Amino acid sequence: MTLGSASGVEVCVVGGGPAGMMAAGRAAECGARVVLLEKNDRLGKKLLITGGGRCNVTNAEFRRPVLVEKYGERGEFLHSLFARFGPRELIDFLARYGLATVIEEENRAFPATQRASSVLEVLARYLADGGVEVRTRAPVRGLQADAAARRVTGVETAGGVIEAGSVVVATGGLSHPETGSTGEGFGWLSAIGHSVRIPEPSLVPLRASEAWVARLAGLAFEDARLTALSLSGERPKKTPSERGKLLFTHFGLSGPLALNLSSRILALAREAGDEEERLRLLVDLVPTEDHARLDAVIRESLAAAPNRKVRNSLPQALPARMVPVLLELARVDPDLPAHSLTKASRLEIVRLMKALPLTFDGLLGSDKAIVTSGGVALEEIDFRTMRSRLFDNLYLAGDLLDFQRRSGGYSLQICWSSGWAAGTASGQARG
Ligand SMILES: Cc1cc2nc3c(=O)[nH]c(=O)nc-3n(C[C@H](O)[C@H](O)[C@H](O)COP(=O)(O)OP(=O)(O)OC[C@H]3O[C@@H](n4cnc5c(N)ncnc54)[C@H](O)[C@@H]3O)c2cc1C
Repeated sequence: MTLGSASGVEVCVVGGGPAGMMAAGRAAECGARVVLLEKNDRLGKKLLITGGGRCNVTNAEFRRPVLVEKYGERGEFLHSLFARFGPRELIDFLARYGLATVIEEENRAFPATQRASSVLEVLARYLADGGVEVRTRAPVRGLQADAAARRVTGVETAGGVIEAGSVVVATGGLSHPETGSTGEGFGWLSAIGHSVRIPEPSLVPLRASEAWVARLAGLAFEDARLTALSLSGERPKKTPSERGKLLFTHFGLSGPLALNLSSRILALAREAGDEEERLRLLVDLVPTEDHARLDAVIRESLAAAPNRKVRNSLPQALPARMVPVLLELARVDPDLPAHSLTKASRLEIVRLMKALPLTFDGLLGSDKAIVTSGGVALEEIDFRTMRSRLFDNLYLAGDLLDFQRRSGGYSLQICWSSGWAAGTASGQARG
């Protein structure tokens, strides 16, 4: 049964996440008759859980070369996309619908309402304004394509095949599959000839095997430094260390710093290859001070009240819940008077504060990843239009593209930019 041609669908967008909604709204704005297919009973399920429900909607880094660098080597592909619809355009777009944004640390932009649902409401209005036909509970099963003619000829749904002038695939990656991102798009695209690098979890919290981390669950350090160290080869190998916000959890480490290093830590663990010799994670809790300066601060703090118990004498900047853990690791009796603390014990406390050791026990699975790395090869896409280089009427957008993303609004910005470009090109190509 053929559905689309009967209703005159010019653009069929598959996937109702941020990228698909932007693409559909934009294609309609360009004058096309658009249908948006989403298998869930509603749009934007994942969008609603972004940024802990607040949605870090973009990164307000307006200097394009600096922004592009944040995506690593493959960021080069993003220049033209961001030149046409970058963070500034996204912020203006939301403002056009009455949604102001606020910019927090590290240029993270959030809706002023602090609610991801406000962003979804804007997109729903954008779709309605353009008269997009939204079909929910409409799982797509595959794509039909004629490779010789370089065209996608149909979108297979439970209700029949939709024959649209153009097809935008925006089915997302593989993280948090309960939101609908189950990776079907990778299979369809690979079946019609696109190269797909098997997606892996990226931006994932880290597990540590020490039982004491659970006692620190919920404790955040605004500025810490994290390094992973492999001791299994002849020479120790390290990941580059990074600084940022770190969160202790029941199982280990999370927060932007841990998430951003997760892929490189996994790569180092694989390189080390030896299950027995696990990777060390070293956390510098006070990266602003070197060992000598930190020791001086502690000495001062101890000397201020020599008869006070050590557990009450460490610098006040150190969170109270961290103190018993540090003293236990340094084998110091917390009730010892400050004046009795030996130099060796004091230096051990300094050493631990500068390099708190944890044993890496793997990443949490894709179900906990923010995004997956891997996806459709970027070389097979024309980034001015997001059009496939293999099929003249196929466009791709969002998480299914093979970019390395950081935490901080960078992932959604790819979705907005690629969705907008795909919507513009497919909307203008109709007829
Ligand atoms: C917990 C969490 C927090 C995050 N926070 C942030 C943040 O604050 N800032 C940021 O920039 N990024 C964040 N991200 C990443 C961000 O959510 C993704 O980059 C973004 O949602 C990807 O959008 P997308 O449209 O490409 O795919 P998705 O949002 O995954 O949407 C794809 C849609 O396609 C539908 N679909 C899939 N298969 C089919 C099919 N066969 N038929 C029909 N429909 C189908 C799915 O149901 C889904 O609705 C977060 C991710 C997670 C998991």
